[in-house]
Amino acid sequence: MTATNAAAYVEVQGLVKWFGADRAVDDVSFNVSKGNFVTLLGPSGCGKTTTLMSIAGLHSIDAGQIRVGGMIYTAPKNGIFMPPEKRDIGMVFQSYAIWPHMTVAQNVAYPLEIRGMPQPEIDSRVADVLRLVGLAEMAAKLATQLSGGQQQRAALARAIVSRPRLLLFDEPLSNLDLKLREQMRVELKRIQNEVGITSIYVTHDQAEALVMSDEIIVMSKGRIQQRGTPHEIYARPVNAYVSNFIGVANLLKGRIVAVNGGGRGKIEIAQNGKQLQFPCLIAAGIRAGDEAVLSVRPENVQARRDNGDGRCLEGEVLQAIFLGNCVDCRVRWGDFEWKVLTHPRGRLSKGDKVYLHLDPEHTLAVQP
Ligand code: ATP
Repeated sequence: MTATNAAAYVEVQGLVKWFGADRAVDDVSFNVSKGNFVTLLGPSGCGKTTTLMSIAGLHSIDAGQIRVGGMIYTAPKNGIFMPPEKRDIGMVFQSYAIWPHMTVAQNVAYPLEIRGMPQPEIDSRVADVLRLVGLAEMAAKLATQLSGGQQQRAALARAIVSRPRLLLFDEPLSNLDLKLREQMRVELKRIQNEVGITSIYVTHDQAEALVMSDEIIVMSKGRIQQRGTPHEIYARPVNAYVSNFIGVANLLKGRIVAVNGGGRGKIEIAQNGKQLQFPCLIAAGIRAGDEAVLSVRPENVQARRDNGDGRCLEGEVLQAIFLGNCVDCRVRWGDFEWKVLTHPRGRLSKGDKVYLHLDPEHTLAVQP
């Protein structure tokens, strides 16, 4: 993946970071346009935090280059390393990191005071930003008197009050309970949108990434697997790892038998003692003859009572769990279990015989 782009505001190129014998970040390149919200998403240990800390200047790096707003922040090849306090970056962490002995307003004012801003301007900026994060009424309270969600809003207010060039978030919502986390996702995105500060967000929570991001960068083992809008990552994963990490997918190993124009083709699956061919969309870089994986989201499998065009897959419902707006089914097809989400009107129950229909527009062949 190439990172150089004239419109890029943040440019990370060929970032490599070793910890002892471990390569925590392995040749990572990406860019972020001005004002965008980009999420680094991946499981624990995949190198997200290390990437973020490298941008903040809290880690040195072994190779690569980091530029923000056209300025080189880190470039070991040229001996450049801008100290963190010069980078003009706001950060929000999982731990709220606000000072317990100060009021909310004092906490938020602090970054402006150390810059020597005149008091009237500080007061006006602090009032504005507290209003923006919904804490105007709490200004005079001690930070410790706030709930977890309010403390995180205060931490956000402190990070944005000086209008930094860049905001970095490291799992800022993971200490909150689920309900509050869901609320805060939307709230945080609204605030970022309003202030328009370019943001890089780290999380292992796919739902958080889907809700908040303009673009998601999926990482695994120190490398980028895919980058795209939430919709692209969900609907057109490039490999089985991304298919499985974002949402739920039915994955079947196979071989590509034909690639036609327009990213379409056919995959052959050996199943139940038969060779079956499925028309499908084909992820970039896959050629005829390649091993591939058929990936189908449960909501894209139709379970019918009739055999439709006669090419449906005959199966038996093993489980049908009513979830209100849908029914979560498991359907046995030979030795494979399909995950299928059906409409409650279908009234499927355990033991029913069904026919599964795959729509070629929502059936994908991805890299293994
Ligand atoms: P998490 O969500 O758990 O923080 P992550 O994706 O952010 O995971 P990193 O924290 O970047 O992952 O860690 C990447 C790898 O680098 C891991 O194998 C980790 O053990 C290692 N690592 C991170 N920081 C250090 C450090 N200061 N010293 C040694 N190894 C480290």
